[in-house]
Amino acid sequence: MIPLTDIKKASEAIKDIAHRTPLLTSEQLNERSGNRVSLKSEHLQKTGAFKIRGATNKVKQAVLDGAKYITAASSGNHGQAVAYIANQLNVPATIVVPEDANPAKLDAIEAYNGKIVKCGTTSAERIPKAIALAEEAGGTYIPPYDDSYIIAGQGTVGLEIIEQLPDVDVIIVPVGGGGLISGILSAVKQLNPKVKVIGVEPETANDTYLSLQNKQITAIPPTLTIADGLRTSQPGDVTFPILLKHLDDLVLVSEEEIKAACRFVMERMKQVIEPSSAVSIAAVLSRKLAVQNKKVVAVVSGGNVDLKALQDLIQ
Ligand SMILES: *Cc1c(COP(=O)(O)O)cnc(C)c1O
Repeated sequence: MIPLTDIKKASEAIKDIAHRTPLLTSEQLNERSGNRVSLKSEHLQKTGAFKIRGATNKVKQAVLDGAKYITAASSGNHGQAVAYIANQLNVPATIVVPEDANPAKLDAIEAYNGKIVKCGTTSAERIPKAIALAEEAGGTYIPPYDDSYIIAGQGTVGLEIIEQLPDVDVIIVPVGGGGLISGILSAVKQLNPKVKVIGVEPETANDTYLSLQNKQITAIPPTLTIADGLRTSQPGDVTFPILLKHLDDLVLVSEEEIKAACRFVMERMKQVIEPSSAVSIAAVLSRKLAVQNKKVVAVVSGGNVDLKALQDLIQ
């Protein structure tokens, strides 16, 4: 696990950048799930997702260590977060994105003065490019999840949940590469080991589910789940051992359940959330959790969904 002291340091490092997001509640959500449910609302976070927490912790450390240039490989929330914090710290950033990246996402990166380099269509092409660009210019490459500073930053979500709802019983977390959930596990299990932490993946992006079953990192072929932040093909070398040792359970949700959860939150709670973050609510609504009459926090990891995708979701 990541030491609690490192997560507390991360909390200090990010406090002038990241919001302390609220816990939102809904009677309908309680009724539908049979639990007292709160949503940890990272869709209201700076740059629209929790990724700013880890990115801020990591980029600040890189700058302290002398980095004059920052790179990342992501057209999604991680790319936006890295561009944002580099801009705040007056360090130039280059974000390597796929050739077919969504123009709306590129606009967001450029709005934070991030320079865009297009490369290939897979992360296997983008990541070496971003690392090479950093090395050429004495800069630092910022990975999306498999890094102790990133995980410590994401772990501040767990610290806040325990502060905001000290008697929480269960925390439900979307799982991509596992940075968010391994940070939350590290914070929560050191503060109160009785709190259960349950991960959620789409059925079609079940790499962590399979890895846990096999007790070793297991890759899956590229997938096309609507939850685009969870399309990673395998859990990380740093994140997976934390999950294997400490995770209480991992459930899978279908594409239909993810869409229904998005619609529920928009219609009933008037919140715009993105499909990746809706998996935790889908797990709660589908009653796939073996949990009843408990205080449950579902982490809503982000809200970055463009209007076109929103239209498809609503129809
Ligand atoms: C990145 C991301 C995730 C997955 O986080 P990991 O740390 O890769 O597990 C979930 N939801 C959203 C909105 C994201 O941007």
